[in-house]
Amino acid sequence: MRAVGYFTPSDRATLQRAAHLAEGLTQRFFNLDRGVWMRNPYALFTRREVGKTLFHDDAFANIVRIEASHPLARNIRAKSLYGIVLHDPNILLALLRSSRHDLWALGLFILTHELIHIVRFREFNVDFFASSVERDEEERVVHSMTREILAGISPIDHIIDLYNCQSPDTN
Ligand SMILES: [Zn+2]
Repeated sequence: MRAVGYFTPSDRATLQRAAHLAEGLTQRFFNLDRGVWMRNPYALFTRREVGKTLFHDDAFANIVRIEASHPLARNIRAKSLYGIVLHDPNILLALLRSSRHDLWALGLFILTHELIHIVRFREFNVDFFASSVERDEEERVVHSMTREILAGISPIDHIIDLYNCQSPDTN
């Protein structure tokens, strides 16, 4: 892992594994069937891949909705999908400031949080285009669910500290 900058291929592999675990944990938490991620495909992006338009400067990650005609949706057979944009510079900087350089644990937390958003958009009719007041409330709900899902799975207290230092994402 580089100190600051962008994810290396090995960082990406760590995050793919974390995403896989986060999928299973989220599915179980909501008592959904195994097809949930087939019905609701999503893609993982890093900041370098999305260019300047699709990211928020002050977040670890944010969610974008991509229509099928968008170049980022190539190779995915769905009308639209969600993308999780991971802000590698912000994540790496937070880890650098922390006493523990644990990309796996922070990645698991971030991805679980974002996958909960996607499940709630897709399966529970939460509005992706909600007002900022509703979004703030949704952030609180999602943050609390993330803590509940990961309690006992990962030593997450230091991760929550990192998360609380960061502005919540805006999706
Ligand atoms: Zn969020």
